[in-house]
Amino acid sequence: MVATRSIFPVVMRCGRGCVAVLFLLACQALAFEWTLVKHDGRDYVPIEDVAKFYSFTQASYSGDNINLEGATLRMVGGVNSRELYLNGLKFILSFPIIKVDDRILMSRMDLSKLVEPVLRPARIVAKPVRTVVLDAGHGGFDQGAQSILGNEKDFALDVVQRARDLLLKAGFNVRLTRSADVFVRLEDRVAFGNRQSNAVFVSVHFNAGAREEAGGLETYSLAPRGVPSTNSLNLTLSDFQPGIGNLRDPENIALATAMHTALITRVGGNDRGIKRARFIVLRDSNIPGVLIEGGFLTNPVDRVRIATPIYRQLLAQAIYQGILSYNRALNRGGTSEQMMVKRGDASEPDSKDQGASIWDPLKPNVYTLPEDARK
Ligand SMILES: [Zn+2]
Repeated sequence: MVATRSIFPVVMRCGRGCVAVLFLLACQALAFEWTLVKHDGRDYVPIEDVAKFYSFTQASYSGDNINLEGATLRMVGGVNSRELYLNGLKFILSFPIIKVDDRILMSRMDLSKLVEPVLRPARIVAKPVRTVVLDAGHGGFDQGAQSILGNEKDFALDVVQRARDLLLKAGFNVRLTRSADVFVRLEDRVAFGNRQSNAVFVSVHFNAGAREEAGGLETYSLAPRGVPSTNSLNLTLSDFQPGIGNLRDPENIALATAMHTALITRVGGNDRGIKRARFIVLRDSNIPGVLIEGGFLTNPVDRVRIATPIYRQLLAQAIYQGILSYNRALNRGGTSEQMMVKRGDASEPDSKDQGASIWDPLKPNVYTLPEDARK
């Protein structure tokens, strides 16, 4: 059998256009029988299978709301929605959850490119991060987003310099794509990152919105091949082009999860979620990459916060924390075991066999779920 950590399909038809498939998990004795459903030319899996496979012990589907709960993990979503909450952290799915013949379905793409690497990061085969490439967006004549309190290029550089200091102190190597107010082409930034080994690429930006009300934090992870960017409505031909960054799909979403978790818990503010895009610095990167948007310069509240050094220090601390969480979640380093949450009862052979582990920040009660907040 091919030694791979990812789920891959084998065999079996069960008539009526539905194909029952065994996704065999290599490296483990267990085989789980997934039901595969074709809809509009796309593969889906029933949400019940997701619940069963990831050991969610309670599942409720009232109306079109989906609520799965396990020992330490809660998954909340909705039919016809692309929003998925994992212990309150917001993810934007590549395709909406759908309901076909009274069956709630999640795209197989989201299962394999989001749910699996996020819920079981320890299964990702990756080297521990030693070098962090910090990329301050824009620079020189390229101001980025502008505001009366300052411009994106300057705030991004300040955050990057603060993050550099924290990371250096912790013993990481740090490389900056720019350390002054100069213009650097996107292609040069990504080529610079690609020369580093055991490294990740962290790009720092601030947002601008057409509406003043738009505010909060969002984190971008490279869109997997064949899915639309979060902010575009339809698939285009270019969405199917292979990007070198897609070789890092599991690491990319794991890094984005670590980074966004740190941002939301440390910095706070409106959680706009983990989104997908094909920015050049992500698409052409051969090291895992993430792009964070640290707030909106067009939003009156965000703008004032961003112009405050304390806020930018919090962003820097979140970047630092995100790197640490990423390393730990991938099960590197001596203390990793205690930093991870074991899912399920450790006495159950089942949960042990699966080596199930999730992000330590995804403990229950770390986040306030949207419905809890209304109580
Ligand atoms: Zn920008």
